[in-house]
Order: sequence, then C-alpha cells, then structure tokens
Amino acid sequence: MADLQLAENRAPTVAQAGVWLACIECEETFAPFAEVIYRCGECGGLLEARYDHYPDFTEFSGRGVWRYAAALPFETGVSLPEGDTPLHEVPGLCAELDLPALRVKHEGMNPTGSFKDRGMTVGVEVAKAVGVSRLACASTGNTSAALAAYGARAGLETLVLLPTGKVAAGKLAQAALHGARVLEVEDNFDTCLDIVSDLADRDEAYLLNSLNPFRLEGQKTIGFEIVERFLDDYGTLPDRICLPVGNAGNTAALYKAFRELVESGAIEAKEMPKLTGIQTEGAAPLVEAIENGSEAITRWGSVETKATAIRIGNPVNAPKALPGIRETGGTAISVSDEAVTNAQRALAEEGIGVEPASAASLAGLRKLREQGIVSSDERVVCLTTGHLLKDPAAAASAGSDPEPVAGDTESVLEHLAE
Ligand SMILES: *Cc1c(COP(=O)(O)O)cnc(C)c1O
Ligand SMILES: [Zn+2]
Repeated sequence: MADLQLAENRAPTVAQAGVWLACIECEETFAPFAEVIYRCGECGGLLEARYDHYPDFTEFSGRGVWRYAAALPFETGVSLPEGDTPLHEVPGLCAELDLPALRVKHEGMNPTGSFKDRGMTVGVEVAKAVGVSRLACASTGNTSAALAAYGARAGLETLVLLPTGKVAAGKLAQAALHGARVLEVEDNFDTCLDIVSDLADRDEAYLLNSLNPFRLEGQKTIGFEIVERFLDDYGTLPDRICLPVGNAGNTAALYKAFRELVESGAIEAKEMPKLTGIQTEGAAPLVEAIENGSEAITRWGSVETKATAIRIGNPVNAPKALPGIRETGGTAISVSDEAVTNAQRALAEEGIGVEPASAASLAGLRKLREQGIVSSDERVVCLTTGHLLKDPAAAASAGSDPEPVAGDTESVLEHLAE
C-alpha cells in the first residue's frame, strides 16, 4: 500500500490554533484564516487542512458533527445541529443481496436534508473567522439549500448559481425560503462553478463549494461516525463504503477521516474501508479515470442523468478522491438511471426515503454483487446522501399513482374490491 501518511507535518510560520492548509501537490503550506485562498498559490493544486495533532476516539464527546471538534479547526460552529445520522439495518436488502452485514447510513436526515450540512457548519464558521460578508456557491441543489440555511443562521448574505431547469424542486424551494439570492444559469453545473470560482478570485464572494477545504473537514465526520458505530456494533470496521460521486468531495473527505484515524493510531491502515464510488452512465468521468488507470479526470462537456445531484462532468476533488479509491482497494462503477430508480424503490420498501442520486450507492452495490466483486461476507455501508423530499417529482414518478375515487364509503369499498 502506498504512503498513507498525512505528509510531513510542516506548519507554516503563521499557524493558528494548530491548523493550517497544505497543497496536496507541492506541500506548500498556508495560514488558514489570514487570507482567503482556495488553491495553492504556488502550483494551483488543491488544499487540505492539516493539524499539529490528530485525536483518537478518547478525545471525542457529545453528539453530531461537533462531537469531533478535536479533529476540526474550531471548538464549535454555526450549527442547526447536524450529523449523528441513522445507520439503518435493512433486513430485506440483506436478504435480497445475500449480504448479511449491509447497513445504510441516511445522510438525508441532516437538518436541510443532505450531508452538505456537515460541510456548511464548518465552512460558514470559517467564513465568519475570515470576516467575509457574502457567501456563494454553484450547486446541483443541495449545496445551495445548505448554504442558504447556514448563511441565514449566521446572518450573512448568500448567493447561489444553479443550472436552469436541472435543480430538483425541494432544493430550489429551500434556497428561496432561506433567503439566498438564486441565479439561474443557462448552462450546466460545471460552468456555474467556473463562474463562482471567478467571483471568488475577484473577492466578490467567499466560495463554499467543496473546493473549499473546510467543507470537507465537516464532511469527514461521516467517516468518524461510521467507524465508531461499527466498532460498537461489530468490534470491527466496515470492509467497504459505497457512495454516489459528484464532485468527489465526500469520497475525499472519507479518505481523509480514515487517514487521520490511522495517523492518531486509532485504526490501522489495512482496516480502511474500500471506498467505492458510484456514478450514473450519463455522468461518469471519475469511473472513466478509474477504469483507464489515469491520474486525472477528463472533463465531460455534456452530462445527463435523473440523479441531478451528481450531474457533474468535472469532479473538482478528483485529485483527492482518486488516491483514496485506489489506496483503500476500492473501485468506481457506473449504473443506469433505471437501476437508480429501482434502488430508490428498494430503499423505500425498507422505509428509507432517498433522492435519486443517493440510491446510486445501492444500485452500484447491487451491480458489484452481481459481478461477484463484492462477496457475501463483506460488511458494507451504503451512504444515502439526500432525502426523498428533495426531489418530489422523481419520487412520485418512481412510486405508484394515486387512484381517484368518489367521496363516500361504499365507493371506496367497491374500489378496494376491484
Ligand atoms: C452533493 C451530493 C452528492 C455528491 O457528493 P460529492 O461530494 O460532490 O461527490 C451526492 N448526492 C447528493 C444527494 C448530493 O447532494
Ligand atoms: Zn502547490
């Protein structure tokens, strides 16, 4: 296995509270809150947060994202509160897939209905520390919902850029009601992100896409929760985590969580769960890179899928996520939109309501079982990233149609007898 160390911990001279930013390409370090930076000033590489201390389990207390404050840049943040999501048992799916130790972690149970809240509670706190007045993001929907809510809570102005007609109704409604300024762009998500990045470079707004390394700090707490819960329930870690991939921020964040736990001595490197990224066939640039064994992503200019949350052709966090998938022995595969809808129904039969992108994790696992890549004795966690109500149209069309009936009991009984 390759070198899993969090690189030599070289603190910059102006480190604050034991945290700094480091470039994952050239290892240059930067002070985190003195100036606003999103990429390495030397080489343009992605940045990640580094600490002078990585905590083990004994240093965690309380609940939710801020239980893991010892592994975060602040003691607490703008909180609604978030995290502490259920890890469901799914007996029906375990039987169907012949996978007795399958669990589903439902991130749709966060305050605004997606895991994006975990990143925002930290990201918006950083924005306050940096002292910016306007927050902005490009979004396929859920990032904008989370940013709007956390920005509102912090009393900061929020601006979101969305691809016209490609954002599910629930998400758009959240951004609107929480008071974000919503700009609809006649182009895809990747173009929205290009524009917001330009605005951020011109100091017009503080960027809170997952390019912002502090978003991923919050999101890594998904990994901590899974590890703690599995150790409690089974005395061991899961063998594999399946998750949908859009910008690949979550994949990168989970990998970072496991590397930090290795660094602190809480777990061993060989215990790290195999990170398994799932995309849909119409938007699968990361799958393509894994299949071709390439170091970098080739941007897909045109993408299409019903799973709008992962309708992304240029996953910005690929340089962090690809090593995570490879070094944990994981993989990445794509599934059809039809398989996604079937998986959405199967989860619903277990009482778990998710939006299409979330169901991709289960659709991918099903395919890997069929291909014999995942064996029956593996302990697997599927991450479901967003709630059913995010995309009411997709849920309604995947479900059964309402049946019209006259307004008296006899008619109802007759109808039921038909
Ligand atoms: C944002 C999002 C994803 C993709 O996550 P990345 O970190 O961008 O890979 C998947 N599912 C849902 C519901 C999302 O909102
Ligand atoms: Zn660099």
